[in-house]
Amino acid sequence: MKKIIVALAALALALSCTPKMPVIGISCNLGSEGYSRVSSNYFNAVLTAGGVPVAVPLTDNEKVLERILKNVDGLILTGGEDVDPARYGEAPSENLGKVNGRRDTCDFAIAGTALKLKKPILAICRGEQLLNVCLGGSLHQDIPSEIDSELTHRVSTSEKAHKVGIYPDTRFGRVMKIDSLEVNSAHHQCVKCLAPGLKLVAASPDGVVECYENDKSIPSFVLGIQSHPEVFAQKGEEPYLSIFKYFLKACK
Ligand code: MN
Repeated sequence: MKKIIVALAALALALSCTPKMPVIGISCNLGSEGYSRVSSNYFNAVLTAGGVPVAVPLTDNEKVLERILKNVDGLILTGGEDVDPARYGEAPSENLGKVNGRRDTCDFAIAGTALKLKKPILAICRGEQLLNVCLGGSLHQDIPSEIDSELTHRVSTSEKAHKVGIYPDTRFGRVMKIDSLEVNSAHHQCVKCLAPGLKLVAASPDGVVECYENDKSIPSFVLGIQSHPEVFAQKGEEPYLSIFKYFLKACK
């Protein structure tokens, strides 16, 4: 009996010393060929940061999503097509890109369920835009035709395209201890009106919203990033990897 108690105590100690590896759900895209697909950069960035990535299938079945999302510690909303402007009450501009109604339906259900379950969310590119709309914000449908800017935001994900300034009086600014960041940029839309509950964290020199976080009115962790830090984080490049470590810490 005594041996069993000692063994159990040793096991409890070992478990308490083992750092928890948060399980991170990653939303998928719906390719025209019918495959659920998502860039492996997201999986690899989570792996490099010490988490356990799992794919969240495209479904709007809320019972299924609740079952899945209850079993993850956090969610990454990934990049993709333009969000249908009908979602924020606007008619489509002639410069609107491709929209994917089925993916919008599923992503709104995934984001809404994660918020309801108070799961931490890291929203990237389209995910950042979609979560803003999901919470009641709106988007610029096309930066070149709507914003007077000398910056090019539609470049690629593989190179640094422009700088963003980070506001120091934000949770992100305090934790990351940086006041600017070079980012890649592969988008032609961006946040227009930030949703209630979201606070501006970083903007590019032309004023484009590049990062937001939740204020106290949203009880769970939200971080939205317009660029693609996963591209550099998966290779261990700082400070991009630290963004994922910061997110994983919020998921524990
Ligand atoms: Mn940009």
